[in-house]
Amino acid sequence: MPPTLPSLPLSAKLTVLRGVGPAFATILEDAGIASMRDLLMALPYRYVDRGSLLKIGELDRRPVPRDPDREIVTVLGVIKDLRQSTTRVQRMALTEALLDDGTGHLRLVWFNQAYLARVLKPGDRILAFGPLSAGRQGLEMRSPAFEVMGRGSDEAEDLWVRRYLPLYRKLGPITGRVRQRLVGEALARVGAPDELLPPELARGLPDTLAALRLLHQPPDESDAQELENRDTPAHGRLASEELFAFALGVALRRAGRMKRRGIIVPTSPELREKLRALLPFHLTGAQRGAFKEIVDDLTSGRVMHRLLQGDVGSGKTLVAFLAMAMVAETGGQATLLAPTEVLARQHALTFQRLLGENAPMQLLLGPMKAAEKRAALARIASGEARYVVGTHALFQEAVSFANLQLVVVDEQHRFGVKQREALKGKGADPHWLVMSATPIPRSLALAVFGDLEQSVLDELPPGRQPVTTRLLDSEDAERAWDIVDRELAAGHQAFVVSPAIDPQDGSEGKVPLRDIQAMEALLTARFPEITLTVVHGRLKADELEKRMAAFVAGEARLLLATTVIEVGVDVANATVMVVDHAERFGLSQLHQLRGRVGRGKVHSHFLMISGSETQRLRALVETSDGFRIAQKDLELRGPGEFFGTRQSGVPQFQVADLVRDRQLLASCRESAERAVARGLTESQLAWLRQEQARLKLAEIS
Ligand code: ADP
Ligand code: MG
Repeated sequence: MPPTLPSLPLSAKLTVLRGVGPAFATILEDAGIASMRDLLMALPYRYVDRGSLLKIGELDRRPVPRDPDREIVTVLGVIKDLRQSTTRVQRMALTEALLDDGTGHLRLVWFNQAYLARVLKPGDRILAFGPLSAGRQGLEMRSPAFEVMGRGSDEAEDLWVRRYLPLYRKLGPITGRVRQRLVGEALARVGAPDELLPPELARGLPDTLAALRLLHQPPDESDAQELENRDTPAHGRLASEELFAFALGVALRRAGRMKRRGIIVPTSPELREKLRALLPFHLTGAQRGAFKEIVDDLTSGRVMHRLLQGDVGSGKTLVAFLAMAMVAETGGQATLLAPTEVLARQHALTFQRLLGENAPMQLLLGPMKAAEKRAALARIASGEARYVVGTHALFQEAVSFANLQLVVVDEQHRFGVKQREALKGKGADPHWLVMSATPIPRSLALAVFGDLEQSVLDELPPGRQPVTTRLLDSEDAERAWDIVDRELAAGHQAFVVSPAIDPQDGSEGKVPLRDIQAMEALLTARFPEITLTVVHGRLKADELEKRMAAFVAGEARLLLATTVIEVGVDVANATVMVVDHAERFGLSQLHQLRGRVGRGKVHSHFLMISGSETQRLRALVETSDGFRIAQKDLELRGPGEFFGTRQSGVPQFQVADLVRDRQLLASCRESAERAVARGLTESQLAWLRQEQARLKLAEIS
């Protein structure tokens, strides 16, 4: 015990710090920073090396670099003059500041960033980073990044007590400079926490407090590059703690589930015979394997939470159907939740075909007529409907099941926590089977679905024709239309996909964009004889349904769409898809789109038109393995984007990185299972309670 001031735990509220009152604390909390730990886990985004700071007066005496735009220079000075104007030729807003550091003046220039006039004030002391160029009035720095360090020249000196100056992002009204001060004070006052990591994870890593000091107040011998790349043992310590906390939460939830009594679905040789007789074809080996895993779960006496993964077209629906049939044919109810009405209808149709006309099946959609809906609800409540297919309407309060034993969620990325909550009120603890639309890399599946067992369909049904994939430059688009022409002439159908375009995008102007109206005009002119139907997200639901149905029925032979068709739609006669502006799509999304063709027995084509990002898009030409494409997509875009922006459910780590640290996550998971089996320590439990909200952990009892 140190004899000085009593030290604070990392869990202490920030109000213990000087200058953090209730108002300030609220602002920080809104930014996700409530405790000392939160404050300290938010690392600097940059480390400025005092050695790299240049005197303005000496800038023009330095040798001119060969490629001046490449060299970023750092200067520190006070803004003497600030003005706003408009450029004469292109009418751009121009912001100019004159920076003075006592050795000379440097002109800083920004284009089209008029808001800067509100952020900066004459007298502000700023660090500016940017490339030097020769302007009309001598050297200038164009579009520099900057950090406001304070006002005037008074408080500058304490910045440079060390070689490295850490920079923090501004949080609302809390500037990076204020954060520096808070971090400094926090580090001076916190005491060493208990070790939270098991020995196998802690090996070779500095302790928590040492790691935080190394990263917020790096010693002079540190390497700025390594610090900024987040590639040091100190980062390893903090990332391990985040991932281990997360893995512990998942393991606890799982342990809790394993204790619950699951409904035992009876199985028998007769039942198996009956199910086999329902199928129109032989299962693939992968389908058989996945179904066996599901049967094992359903008969185990535990509650199933299983993720069924498979490449596009691997036949997940059939596996889901078998699981549902197992329940439904033994007197229980099973429900299938689809993300859109088009898909719900399609599944209902598939089930109808498998089960025959008078099947005990019920479709439930949001916009049903009142009488129809009442009848549907009655059939579900009485237990007469044993296969219940629908959209989110299934989870409304009015819906009650007589004996719900299995919930299947199709094409959804995030395990239906909300839905599970909705069902809890209905007194059921059913089995869950979740199917993902695109393959999800293992590390990400672990992070997002955590507490789920996985079955993987890594085999396509036999007889699939490979899809020929081509990447065409905008000038070669004619070749795509020739292929469409040929396929239509052969009696087939075709998809054309346009990116959903925000009208404001056009001005951005890297590649001129062709919107869906322009594409419609092009297609009407090019294929005048063909019935074309157009679908996009702004159509009313019933209109969209009607148009999709016309295409599925073959009444329309050419479908022009935004990505509303992305998931699930199954039209075997469609043999070609053209994607315009393919650069606007993620790789996994394109792969998912590609899965809409090649579903019948005929050779199909997937044609991407794009004038840019060809390097990235080539991945689709090179492989048709959805798992590999997903991994590449994840590496390129990161976990949040990978799932698209809609409620992705990806936990927010501050230091850990799900792509880079996937190996570490796997080890943390193993350690967490062992730790939970042994029993957690008091400090581990307290720590988990604190991390709960941020890491999206389930309730910890
Ligand atoms: P996804 O996994 O993308 O959801 P689907 O379940 O829609 O794939 O299946 C794709 C197509 O493959 C469907 O037309 C389905 O009828 C067919 N299919 C599924 N399983 C088999 C099988 N074992 N043999 C032949 N065709 C199959
Ligand atoms: Mg599907």
